[in-house]
Amino acid sequence: MPLDFLKRRPGEPQPEPRHTGSAAPSSITLPEEVVAQEYQLKLSYAGKSSEGVRMKTGPNALAELPSMLAGLSQSEIEVVDPLPIEFSEATPVISHPSEAMQWLNAHHVLSPITRHALVVLESIDAIDLAFDTFACGLLEGEIDTSGYPEYNAIIGGVASHWDEATGDMICRAVVGWGGKGARGDTDRTASKLLTGLLTNILASQHALGLTAVERPVPAAGRGGLVCAHCGFASAHERAFYCPKCGMRLLRG
Ligand SMILES: [Zn+2]
Repeated sequence: MPLDFLKRRPGEPQPEPRHTGSAAPSSITLPEEVVAQEYQLKLSYAGKSSEGVRMKTGPNALAELPSMLAGLSQSEIEVVDPLPIEFSEATPVISHPSEAMQWLNAHHVLSPITRHALVVLESIDAIDLAFDTFACGLLEGEIDTSGYPEYNAIIGGVASHWDEATGDMICRAVVGWGGKGARGDTDRTASKLLTGLLTNILASQHALGLTAVERPVPAAGRGGLVCAHCGFASAHERAFYCPKCGMRLLRG
């Protein structure tokens, strides 16, 4: 193929040669085929979420979330609260520095297991900390020497949010895994763990039964209201109940 675009238009001034030393006049020709060195990284994240369980709410409703991981978590159980408005842009994507900084500022104190879980589950949109409270642990598999779960480890727990229509707490089981690789039996193991978590949620004395999960849709924009009960400033404009304490938000 002739490389016409490399030819200069007539009358166009010739460029000054950059090197005036010993270099011979350039006659480098483009090879017919470029020998390319290939690079690739395949990252794969996956997860599962159960139906919701409607809970009779009370002052202890949130405090009982960690107990729903009893017998299933192999690590210490950590509870991640919904994010207040100053972290409303937090995203675990390092090429977006402002969002990544918010994310790190919000989560750097958490354990490596929980941070890994949030990266996986937020990346696949299985949880949303604009309104979810998430009790989390390592459910299956190994951690590396820095304490981070391996790609075939399964993390997860119970996510809860407040139903905008009724103010009830809705809990659901959430599991996830992934990274640089995949293993054939991970999906099946994850299904079993999801069932175990849902069984634990349903066994709670506050459980009222299964319900469809209608997750609140956070509105883009300036965020919501300050809770008169706990002072939490919600990043979630449509929130009717405080994402943190579950009390009714008063509109001004
Ligand atoms: Zn509140």
